[in-house]
Order: sequence, then C-alpha cells, then structure tokens
Amino acid sequence: MIDRRLFLKRSSAALSLSGLAGLGLTACGGGQEEAVADTASALSDKTEAEAEFKATLDESVAAQGAAVNARVIVIGGGMAGATVAKYLRLWGNGIEVTLVERAPVYTSCIMSSLVLTGQRTMGSLQFRYDTLRTKYGIKTEFGDVVAIDPVNARVTLASGKVLTADRIVLAPGIEFDTIPGLSDPLAMPHAWKAGESTSVLARQLAAMPTGGTAILTIPKAPYRCPPGPYERACLVADWMTLRKPRAKLIVLDANPDFVTERDNFSSAFLGLHGSVIEYHNLAAVDHVDMATRSVFLADGTRFSGHAINLIPTQRAPALVAQTGLVNDATGRFAKVNVLDYASTVAPRVHIIGDASATTMPKAGHIANQEAKVCADALSRIFAGGQPDPAPVTNSACYSTITMKQASWLHAMFQYDPATAAMKAVADASGASTGWNGDNFDDMGKWFKALMADSFA
Ligand SMILES: Cc1cc2nc3c(=O)[nH]c(=O)nc-3n(C[C@H](O)[C@H](O)[C@H](O)COP(=O)(O)OP(=O)(O)OC[C@H]3O[C@@H](n4cnc5c(N)ncnc54)[C@H](O)[C@@H]3O)c2cc1C
Repeated sequence: MIDRRLFLKRSSAALSLSGLAGLGLTACGGGQEEAVADTASALSDKTEAEAEFKATLDESVAAQGAAVNARVIVIGGGMAGATVAKYLRLWGNGIEVTLVERAPVYTSCIMSSLVLTGQRTMGSLQFRYDTLRTKYGIKTEFGDVVAIDPVNARVTLASGKVLTADRIVLAPGIEFDTIPGLSDPLAMPHAWKAGESTSVLARQLAAMPTGGTAILTIPKAPYRCPPGPYERACLVADWMTLRKPRAKLIVLDANPDFVTERDNFSSAFLGLHGSVIEYHNLAAVDHVDMATRSVFLADGTRFSGHAINLIPTQRAPALVAQTGLVNDATGRFAKVNVLDYASTVAPRVHIIGDASATTMPKAGHIANQEAKVCADALSRIFAGGQPDPAPVTNSACYSTITMKQASWLHAMFQYDPATAAMKAVADASGASTGWNGDNFDDMGKWFKALMADSFA
C-alpha cells in the first residue's frame, strides 16, 4: 500500500521526468511544425509539473529525516552523477548520498561548441553544487577518487580520506587515448571535455588567417555525443563563411560514414557548407607532428592546418579499468545490467553515463535518464524490493547546422527482456527533415530544462 506522501513524491518526480521527456519529442516522420508545437506544449506542461514538483519537494526531502537507512557514494558530479545524487535523495527513504567530484564547478560540454563561435561564454555553461547540497541534503566531497574497493564498497580519495557505503555509483565520464606525437594536448585541443581546451581551440580559430585551414577529426564510435563532431563542423563552417573568407575545414572521420543523422549532415556538408568543408571518411588519425601542425593517417597521407581540433578515441577513465570493471567487447567501457546499472562483475558498484557500455548513445540526456533508472532501482532495492522490470528512457538532441539554425534527433528506448538490453523504439525515434531557427530556439529551452533537472 502506497501512502499519500510516497504517492505524491513518485508522481511529481515522474512528471518532472516526463516534462523533460516531452521536449522535442516527435514520432519519426512528424513535421517540424508539429515538433515545435509539441515542444511548446511540453514546456508548458513542464511548468505546471514543476510547480507541483516544487510543492512536494520540501515534504519529500523532509521525509528523508535524520534516519539513515542506506549510504551511497556517487563518484563524478557531471550529467549522470549530479542527477543520480538528486533523485536518490528525492525517491529514496533515508538514503545518505555523498557526491565526490574532482572540480567544485561543473562545465557542461553540451552547447560548448557555441563558445568556439563566440555565441556563448564558458561561464554560461558552469553549474555549482550548492543547490544539490542545500535543497536536497547531498553531502559533497571535492577531490579525486584514486581507488575503489568494489567488494567492500570503499572509496579512497587522493587526500587519503576513505569513504564507505552500501553501494557506489560510478559516473566519471570518459578519458582520451593518447596520440603519438602529441606531447602537449593543448597544441591540438580536443575541446571534448569543456574547459581550457575549448578556450584554446576558440583562440586558435580566431587567430586563423583569411583563407586558412582548420582540421577537425572524428574518432571511431562509440564516442561521447554521436552528432557532436558533425554539428561542430557545420557550426564552424558557417562561422568561417562569415568571419574567415575562403577558409577551409578538413573533416577527418575515422568512421565509414556519418555516425548519425545522415540525411541532415550529408546535405549540410555537401550542399550548404560544400565550399568550406572537405570531408574524408575512413580517415583515422595515426600520429601528428606538432612542429609542422600536421596530422597523418596510417597510409602516410598528411593534412596541415592553422587550427586543429583533434578529438581522440575514447574510453572509460583509468579508475574504472583499474577497478576491473571495463569488460565490454571493445575493451573500453563497463558492461552493466540496465535494470539497475550494476556492473556485471561487481554487484555493489553501479556505472552510469558515458563510462558504461549500453546500446544507448553516450549523451547528456541519456546520462540523466540512466541516473533516474539507477536512482529508482536503488530506492526499491534498499526498501527490500526489485528494480522496475521494464524501464523506458529517451534522448532529445539538437544539432547546430548554422549559427542560427538547428536540426533535431530523438530516440526512445525500452527494455528488451530477450536481449537484456535497451532497444530503440522505431516509431518514437527519428530526426527532423532539415533545420530551422525555431529548432535553434528550442535547443536553448531544452538545455535549460535538462541542466535544471540535473543541478537545481
Ligand atoms: C561538444 C559536445 C556537445 C555535446 N552536446 C550534447 C547534446 O546536445 N546533448 C546531449 O545529450 N549530450 C551532449 N554531449 C554529451 C554529454 O556532454 C555527455 O554525454 C555527458 O556529459 C556524459 O555525462 P557523464 O556524467 O557520464 O560525464 P561528465 O558529464 O563528463 O561528468 C563526469 C564527472 O566526473 C568527474 N570525475 C571523473 N573522474 C573522477 C574522479 N576520479 N574523482 C572525482 N571526480 C571525477 C569529472 O570531473 C566530471 O565532472 C555533448 C558533448 C560534447 C563534447
């Protein structure tokens, strides 16, 4: 039997989730007008849902009370970690949550390509942890986790401090492979973890001469944000048309073809930006020469550029590997049970976000969704129950095709018991046909809602 408090708590939280889920959600084949209308109505639903959500929030958090029924350590306070910490406090009964994060301020990768064109500041992408602490009672520890004991759920920080819990949720994002010849990564910045490398790349692009050459490299999938490199290429090409006449952007893609949203990106690359972008598929970077600002493929083909955005191949951070949790077929990411995100080899450690190996894209919206499924599952487990046997997740994504227009991509996934994996729901997944300014505006609203759902 569910009491009133629990019912309110669950339903308001679910509304919060569906409000977000509605943003940009249109079945494949739906027109763009419908998409915009759906988005506007989803936003208005969300406002109402948020009001109700806020009204029950105090009750929810107060109900956590002083009694501690279970302890969870969350490692990494990005899109996945911040969300799971918040929802464990909202949905759990007396779960003490300690969030361990390296940096006191989170810088969002989402929207960070707009820093390159001067349309956003780094400051507009930064989020602090104060609200998670004061509003939800999450404990924070700022420091680097250097070791995890997965059997005893024990975590060691670089300071030597040791924390213990009933469960660990690991949400550390990604790490990059090293590239032969690149002794200083900032010489050819990735700008794929937003921060200093984003600012350095912005300066390199601004300093490029008229008629200059920029290079953008795309690693082999799976990597963080499948449409991200293509949308960055389109955005930078549009900016070059305005600011760097006769400049060229060479895109070296390690993959055989556009990884996602093929129709929109191929049309933008070959049509709209055809005089700026030179696209090469199956062009994996082998090594670089910093002195001559050159990038080499395995067959010796050389490309030189004034500004070089080198996005390396990605993997789960070393901490995940050293804990013995990297066990997918690529040898790069951590396999999980997608009903509760427990590692397949360490049942007390749950892995969410980009570090995990699932059938869903490595994206901030998906990280937020995985975090909620994980928080719900842990709340049920600590209460003596079982995880939801049929979770559903979704992801909305907008791609900048120009500095003022965007396309969109949406996917919905549901648990498939036959494969024990999340399976895309074909009728509820798809992309826009073309791009427009309304989508660009919706992108800003979607970003605001997503970040608020994770950090506020
Ligand atoms: C240019 C770009 C554009 C993007 N656009 C979109 C988009 O439009 N839509 C979308 O859905 N996604 C987008 N993404 C993808 C999105 O940013 C990532 O998928 C998302 O951030 C993954 O969340 P995460 O929590 O796994 O990792 P992160 O958000 O990277 O968080 C990981 C956190 O863990 C911390 N950490 C790591 N190791 C340790 C340690 N040992 N100790 C303590 N703390 C640690 C880090 O400091 C970091 O704060 C984009 C990415 C890029 C690069």
